[in-house]
Amino acid sequence: MAQQESSDKIPYAYLQTRIEKGKDSYGKLMKEVVRSGVCTHCSACVAVCDVLDWIDNEPKLVGKCTGCGICYNQCPRTKTVPQDLIGSFQAAYVVRSKVPDVKGQDGGTVTTLLLYLLEKKLIDGAVVTKHDESWRARPAFVNTREDILAASGSLYVHSQTVKALFKALKDGNHAVAFVGTPCNIDAVDKMQKSPYGMILYNLRANIVKIGLFCMDSFSPETLYGFFEREGIGLKDVGKMNISSGKFNVFNKQGEKLKEYKIAQLNRYKSSSCNFCTDLTSEAADVSVGSVGSPEGYNTVLCRTTLGQLLVEDAAAHGYLEIKPLEHDALETLLKLARMKKVSQYTVNVRTQYVFTSPETPGETSAPRTVLQASNLPKTPFLAKKLKLKNVKLSSAAKTVKFTLENESGYTMEGLDIRISLSIDVFEKIAWRTSVAELYPYESMVFDYPLGVPDDQLPTLEILIDVRTATDNLLTEKISIKSLLEQEAADKAAKEAAKEKKKAEAAAKEQKP
Ligand SMILES: Cc1cc2nc3c(=O)[nH]c(=O)nc-3n(C[C@H](O)[C@H](O)[C@H](O)COP(=O)(O)OP(=O)(O)OC[C@H]3O[C@@H](n4cnc5c(N)ncnc54)[C@H](O)[C@@H]3O)c2cc1C
Ligand code: SF4
Ligand code: SF4
Ligand code: SF4
Repeated sequence: MAQQESSDKIPYAYLQTRIEKGKDSYGKLMKEVVRSGVCTHCSACVAVCDVLDWIDNEPKLVGKCTGCGICYNQCPRTKTVPQDLIGSFQAAYVVRSKVPDVKGQDGGTVTTLLLYLLEKKLIDGAVVTKHDESWRARPAFVNTREDILAASGSLYVHSQTVKALFKALKDGNHAVAFVGTPCNIDAVDKMQKSPYGMILYNLRANIVKIGLFCMDSFSPETLYGFFEREGIGLKDVGKMNISSGKFNVFNKQGEKLKEYKIAQLNRYKSSSCNFCTDLTSEAADVSVGSVGSPEGYNTVLCRTTLGQLLVEDAAAHGYLEIKPLEHDALETLLKLARMKKVSQYTVNVRTQYVFTSPETPGETSAPRTVLQASNLPKTPFLAKKLKLKNVKLSSAAKTVKFTLENESGYTMEGLDIRISLSIDVFEKIAWRTSVAELYPYESMVFDYPLGVPDDQLPTLEILIDVRTATDNLLTEKISIKSLLEQEAADKAAKEAAKEKKKAEAAAKEQKP
């Protein structure tokens, strides 16, 4: 579908997004494997399911899908086994530093491990990544407590750590702790293990690999250029962090200056990160991140015996506080790891579903993509199975969010979706898009802009119309007035709950 920049007022940020349901299903198999072109045509999916058949060189539904996910879990291209997602490990802990002057990115585990190794004379020094006020990476070999402490914190850009490691080895250091992102760790691992590796025959090089978790990094030129345009002076920045899908920028006093959705910064991502599938530094001795653990703590995977001994000994010597990682935390980690594993396959698929620019009312619509007639059985009951859900107004952002979900168990093909705002009898801000396939139990999330003055809001209705060449799947009206009332009621309920909590806390304090 062509993507056009609109000269209209509606910013391009208002794009349709597709959000997967958590469950593995035929839809996921089609999007991640078949449509992305990595299907090997092995037919494992078809072999295990009565409602799948091999038609036109791909697995096609010939009956009702229950969304059981069995097909997805047989496919050799999907990543479903924990070891495929985060590699192997011997022990997993939730960890934080017990050293008072460590100010780490999360729990300070990495900095503390380095301090422990240095102070117990187990290493000559460590390769870390410092930065200056320009927030560029300054990789360095350090061998003092002060330098290790000064290098704490995360820098979301590539760092040339291996050069610093090699120099340290050439300078005669034999025991080195190496801290790096998964791609850094892979480089060292290859140099240690490949027959052509330059560290393989250096029998004096003992390297303990401390890997960071890493979802993305960014190009400093473009990311920092964007920050500057946003009025963020890098020299005032004290910390950057990524948490729950947001990139946060803090000043030196610890106050949040700005918060961006990661998706908003995707264009500044380092291109290599689009082709990276390792979230957790699978080749490290110890891997350290934050996902899965509460704020102020680290999730730590001890992969080798050496890695496990170091973490457990650092705890035994009072440097670290460690407790076992719970099952739910591991699940959170596995979920994120899976997103990264499939991201390489879906890198093109992800950009496919965007809105064309808003139509001018009265203008003839662009022709809809006509799909090839398929061999699927007719499904007359598709109508009423496309459900409108989770309608929510944000009057601050002036948008209405809603979800359309395919509950039919069949693939809906050739969807023509039209959304517009009706004011009296006029239609404004008409959006139109076509979606080739909406798989069973898949949903699409829309963020529709209300580009009208506030006083007009209560008189508005959003009209949603979805059809295929043969069926009208859904026609719905959303009244903004009722959404405004709902929003006010939610706000009042929130305030009342807050007041109640306050009163309860005050009453508790008054009790002797
Ligand atoms: C680019 C990047 C992306 C990340 N993405 C995620 C993520 O998606 N999810 C998650 O859970 N964790 C992620 N992390 C890891 C997280 O930010 C912390 O580094 C980790 O939780 C360790 O926390 P800590 O408190 O022990 O770190 P600290 O004790 O503060 O130590 C951090 C160490 O990392 C080194 N370092 C900092 N920046 C870099 C860099 N660019 N390259 C190499 N070394 C560096 C520092 O020198 C320091 O030694 C990412 C880190 C980086 C660098
Ligand atoms: S019923 Fe649906 S999800 Fe289950 S195996 Fe068949 S196609 Fe896959
Ligand atoms: S199991 Fe996976 S690779 Fe094999 S045919 Fe089905 S989708 Fe393709
Ligand atoms: S996403 Fe991959 S390539 Fe990018 S910095 Fe992280 S580990 Fe390296």
